[in-house]
Amino acid sequence: MKRTTLFFTILSALTLTSCDVHFGNIHYDVPWWVIAIPTGIILFAVYIIGGIILSKNEYVCPHCNKTFSPKWWKAAYSIHLNSDRVLKCPHCKKRSLCKIKRVIK
Ligand SMILES: [Zn+2]
Repeated sequence: MKRTTLFFTILSALTLTSCDVHFGNIHYDVPWWVIAIPTGIILFAVYIIGGIILSKNEYVCPHCNKTFSPKWWKAAYSIHLNSDRVLKCPHCKKRSLCKIKRVIK
Protein backbone atom coordinates (compact mmCIF):
# COMPACT_ATOMS: atom_id res chain seq x y z
CA MET A 1 0.00 0.00 0.00
CA LYS A 2 2.73 2.47 0.96
CA ARG A 3 4.84 1.61 -2.07
CA THR A 4 1.81 1.93 -4.35
CA THR A 5 0.97 5.34 -2.89
CA LEU A 6 4.57 6.49 -3.26
CA PHE A 7 4.73 5.19 -6.84
CA PHE A 8 1.56 7.00 -7.93
CA THR A 9 2.61 10.19 -6.11
CA ILE A 10 5.91 10.27 -8.01
CA LEU A 11 4.19 9.30 -11.26
CA SER A 12 1.55 12.03 -10.96
CA ALA A 13 4.20 14.60 -10.01
CA LEU A 14 6.16 13.75 -13.15
CA THR A 15 3.15 13.69 -15.47
CA LEU A 16 1.68 16.93 -14.13
CA THR A 17 4.94 18.79 -14.65
CA SER A 18 4.64 21.31 -17.44
CA CYS A 19 7.40 21.85 -19.91
CA ASP A 20 6.13 25.27 -20.98
CA VAL A 21 7.26 28.11 -18.73
CA HIS A 22 5.79 31.58 -19.18
CA PHE A 23 7.68 34.31 -17.36
CA GLY A 24 5.89 37.52 -18.25
CA ASN A 25 5.71 37.69 -22.04
CA ILE A 26 8.72 35.43 -22.47
CA HIS A 27 8.09 31.76 -23.26
CA TYR A 28 10.62 29.11 -22.28
CA ASP A 29 10.57 25.54 -23.43
CA VAL A 30 12.37 23.63 -20.69
CA PRO A 31 12.90 19.90 -20.24
CA TRP A 32 10.65 18.22 -17.67
CA TRP A 33 13.48 17.50 -15.24
CA VAL A 34 14.24 21.22 -14.75
CA ILE A 35 10.89 21.48 -12.97
CA ALA A 36 10.63 17.94 -11.56
CA ILE A 37 14.01 17.77 -9.79
CA PRO A 38 13.63 20.97 -7.70
CA THR A 39 10.04 19.97 -6.95
CA GLY A 40 11.20 16.56 -5.74
CA ILE A 41 13.95 18.14 -3.64
CA ILE A 42 11.47 20.54 -2.02
CA LEU A 43 8.93 17.75 -1.35
CA PHE A 44 11.64 15.53 0.15
CA ALA A 45 12.87 18.43 2.36
CA VAL A 46 9.29 19.05 3.56
CA TYR A 47 8.93 15.31 4.25
CA ILE A 48 12.12 15.26 6.33
CA ILE A 49 11.44 18.50 8.22
CA GLY A 50 7.82 17.52 8.92
CA GLY A 51 8.90 14.10 10.13
CA ILE A 52 11.52 15.55 12.46
CA ILE A 53 8.98 17.98 13.94
CA LEU A 54 6.36 15.23 14.35
CA SER A 55 8.84 12.80 15.91
CA LYS A 56 9.36 15.21 18.82
CA ASN A 57 5.78 14.51 19.98
CA GLU A 58 4.92 11.76 22.42
CA TYR A 59 2.12 9.31 21.66
CA VAL A 60 0.20 6.94 23.96
CA CYS A 61 -0.44 3.34 22.92
CA PRO A 62 -4.10 2.36 23.58
CA HIS A 63 -3.09 -1.26 24.27
CA CYS A 64 -0.33 -0.91 26.85
CA ASN A 65 -0.75 2.81 27.79
CA LYS A 66 2.98 3.45 27.42
CA THR A 67 4.31 6.59 25.79
CA PHE A 68 6.78 6.66 22.96
CA SER A 69 8.21 8.96 20.32
CA PRO A 70 8.23 7.51 16.79
CA LYS A 71 11.13 7.67 14.39
CA TRP A 72 10.96 10.64 12.04
CA TRP A 73 10.29 8.62 8.89
CA LYS A 74 7.49 6.67 10.60
CA ALA A 75 5.89 9.85 11.93
CA ALA A 76 6.07 11.55 8.52
CA TYR A 77 4.50 8.65 6.63
CA SER A 78 1.89 7.53 9.15
CA ILE A 79 -1.84 7.88 8.62
CA HIS A 80 -3.29 10.52 10.91
CA LEU A 81 -6.65 11.74 12.19
CA ASN A 82 -6.21 15.29 13.48
CA SER A 83 -3.10 15.01 15.64
CA ASP A 84 -3.50 11.31 16.46
CA ARG A 85 -1.50 8.90 14.33
CA VAL A 86 -1.55 5.24 13.39
CA LEU A 87 1.78 4.02 14.72
CA LYS A 88 3.36 0.73 15.75
CA CYS A 89 4.06 0.69 19.47
CA PRO A 90 7.73 -0.17 20.21
CA HIS A 91 6.69 -1.81 23.51
CA CYS A 92 3.85 -4.18 22.55
CA LYS A 93 4.49 -4.16 18.75
CA LYS A 94 0.81 -3.50 17.93
CA ARG A 95 -0.27 -0.98 15.28
CA SER A 96 -3.12 1.29 16.36
CA LEU A 97 -4.38 4.88 16.45
CA CYS A 98 -2.20 6.44 19.13
CA LYS A 99 -3.32 9.64 20.81
CA ILE A 100 -0.86 12.48 21.16
CA LYS A 101 0.18 13.06 24.76
CA ARG A 102 2.44 16.05 24.63
CA VAL A 103 3.53 18.45 21.97
CA ILE A 104 7.19 19.35 22.33
CA LYS A 105 8.08 22.62 20.67
ZN1 LIG B 1 1.75 -0.65 23.15
